[in-house]
Amino acid sequence: MKPYGFGVDVGGTTCKIGLFETNGTLLDKWEIPTNTEDNGKNIPKDIVDAIRKKMEEKGLTKTDVEGIGMGLPGAVSEDGVVNKCVNLGWGVVPIEAQMEELSGLKVRAANDANIAALGEAWMGAGKGCHSVVMVTLGTGIGGGIVLNNRILTGFNGAAGEIGHIVVNEDEILQCNCGNHGCIEQYASATGIVMMAHRHLDRSQKESALREMGDFSAKDVFDQAKAGDELAKEVVHQVCYLLGKMIATVCNVVNPEVVLIGGGVSKAGQIIIDEIKEGFDVGIFHACANTKITLATLGNDAGIYGGVGLIIHE
Ligand SMILES: [Zn+2]
Repeated sequence: MKPYGFGVDVGGTTCKIGLFETNGTLLDKWEIPTNTEDNGKNIPKDIVDAIRKKMEEKGLTKTDVEGIGMGLPGAVSEDGVVNKCVNLGWGVVPIEAQMEELSGLKVRAANDANIAALGEAWMGAGKGCHSVVMVTLGTGIGGGIVLNNRILTGFNGAAGEIGHIVVNEDEILQCNCGNHGCIEQYASATGIVMMAHRHLDRSQKESALREMGDFSAKDVFDQAKAGDELAKEVVHQVCYLLGKMIATVCNVVNPEVVLIGGGVSKAGQIIIDEIKEGFDVGIFHACANTKITLATLGNDAGIYGGVGLIIHE
């Protein structure tokens, strides 16, 4: 194993890049803008240029670097081909081959939610665990499954899309995926706000949220923590659904630990506490000892996972 590796987390506006020792120590991290012009065709070259510059700055050559691991906002097949990244403007792109040709280094790529799970399993809250499920609660809900230190990719590179598990067949609103009643519609940041508005519309209860009118998922959690009854109901209902969904996933995967990450998870322990009831309802007795805890690497999970991908081959 060579001593250094690069982890890259490609997003729609910026690419996060990290220089690591392959033992998991993050040495340096920085961001470059994501240029989505011309269907994002310059993104690979921009990343390779940035890495090359850093290697020069640190006096590193190819013999020092194990490779580049990338997280991408779309499905990535086992053989390193991206099938559509809407946020980047990409169609079908053989990203590993392209990046290897540009950089002269080994390149591995995976879906960004999956790679965040691998990062947490390797150096974050799942450290020491071989099987981890990560639930990323952001604008949407992402998921990643790591089994025996490897990402579960699936036939189309779409494994771990737990945000689109249907939890309510009676839902009238449509999810971004086209289905109705996905967990993402309720327990994502957008979903929590939608649910709070539903509760406000159906209830006469006084609530700080009603006075605010325009509020975020963070506001809903903050008000629940402050004792606002309506906000507490919303948090309870949303986390109940989430807990039941997580139990379903655990019944299939039987991980050692479930990690809750993403922007919404900044609400903290209240999420873990509130998930428990739904989880207990849905969990099969032989999986009932599954731990659920908060992820710890925050926005760096993806770059950690990139390097994890390179070294866990
Ligand atoms: Zn959906």
